[in-house]
Amino acid sequence: MRIVKLDDTSKKNILNDLLKRSPNNYDKYADSVNEILQNVKENGNKALFDYTLKFDKADISAENIKVTKEEIEEAYNSLENPELVDIIKKSLKNIKDYHEKQKQYSWFDSKTDGSILGQKVTALARVGVYVPGGKAAYPSSVLMNVIPAKVAGVDEIVMVTPPGKDGKVNPNTLVAANEAGVDVIYKVGGAQAIAALAYGTESIKKVDKIVGPGNIYVALAKKAVFGYVSIDSVAGPSEIMVIADESANPRYVAADLLSQAEHDELASAILVTTSTELANEVSKWVDFFVSKLKRNEILTKSLENYGYILVADNMEDVIDIANEIASEHLEILTTNPFDTMTRVRNAGAIFLGEYSSEPLGDYFAGPNHVLPTNGTAKFFSPLSVDDFIKKSSIISFSREALMPLSDDIQKFAKAEGLTAHANSIRVRFEEDDNNCQ
Ligand code: NAD
Repeated sequence: MRIVKLDDTSKKNILNDLLKRSPNNYDKYADSVNEILQNVKENGNKALFDYTLKFDKADISAENIKVTKEEIEEAYNSLENPELVDIIKKSLKNIKDYHEKQKQYSWFDSKTDGSILGQKVTALARVGVYVPGGKAAYPSSVLMNVIPAKVAGVDEIVMVTPPGKDGKVNPNTLVAANEAGVDVIYKVGGAQAIAALAYGTESIKKVDKIVGPGNIYVALAKKAVFGYVSIDSVAGPSEIMVIADESANPRYVAADLLSQAEHDELASAILVTTSTELANEVSKWVDFFVSKLKRNEILTKSLENYGYILVADNMEDVIDIANEIASEHLEILTTNPFDTMTRVRNAGAIFLGEYSSEPLGDYFAGPNHVLPTNGTAKFFSPLSVDDFIKKSSIISFSREALMPLSDDIQKFAKAEGLTAHANSIRVRFEEDDNNCQ
């Protein structure tokens, strides 16, 4: 794995390089995505079935687009590893417990003059969850997207996922969906599934919000339908950054970097350290593990593309680049990780100490693994219960409470030229309407 001295030039180059991975830079797919969206908007189910045949080679119709109870039962019986059901249940409990703590409640503040101000928290009525199905199955993504919606109290959770050539959905995905409490599952994927959730078709009712990761077609489609519906975020390729000093175990660091590099060829894995010795050792361990691990082709390519070991002069420079890159996952393996963490402003999820390796967060610890990528941790947060609620402001005033404000409000409204606004206050305190202008 390449070792680079961290200075102003290398920093600038790496930051530019990483930005190229953003889904915002994939205009070449935009035309085909827009064509799919338009076709589904105009032709509904027919477009869904045509695209599913074209891209997934599966023959789907109005009769079989919905996953049946029998198919879910069959999924339980056909699991390659039946132990997965218990593992899913344990993981689900941890994720639920964590997200319960994020719940927000309505509040009302009343004063003696009879005024009440407040905020009413309401769950979204209908949410669509995209679960990728093209190249692999991700039951963990099902849990991470569905459980916060359940905890928020969403009425109906609809899942979409592409079928295999046999017209079936991966059994791991179906079991996770059933355990998490998904209400209905449709066998459709890609941009066409996003269009169906955003506009509705004869078989699929429009939702209020679409969440969940997917490939570039899914990401661009979500971006394009924002406004018709809400979306969680436009997820880019996975990222890990490890901040380490000489106290870190190079074998652990190497293994953790590879845990994200194996996602895809655009994934990034970056170590920033103050120790040249650690840098050299990590590089050797990376080579060793790559030679042994199954996904070594992807590992090799992603490390060539976006794998770096950066050696910095001091901890300030380490923290500085960590905040600039704003990594999706950030591991801190320093002598005092909690102290280092207080200096980090930007990261999706922060893993502290050598027993908090990133896959613990992917599968089991409880926090959400849907995290901001491509530097968006500077302004976005992990997926949470907040994504599935909305708030309404509450205002209730008595005559006594409104009266002392009446003049000021009318003058404010008139200053904006909005005399009907002023009049709506005036009529409550004056009988003579001849003054109304
Ligand atoms: P996918 O379900 O996202 O995409 C498959 C669909 O893409 C197909 O059904 C098809 O409709 C569409 N498609 C394929 N080729 C097309 C073409 N030429 N034109 C138009 N549409 C086309 O599954 P995938 O492809 O395996 O991608 C999954 C993605 O999700 C990966 O990038 C993976 O890294 C990501 N992922 C992210 C997370 C996360 O939490 N961030 C978790 C799991 C997966």
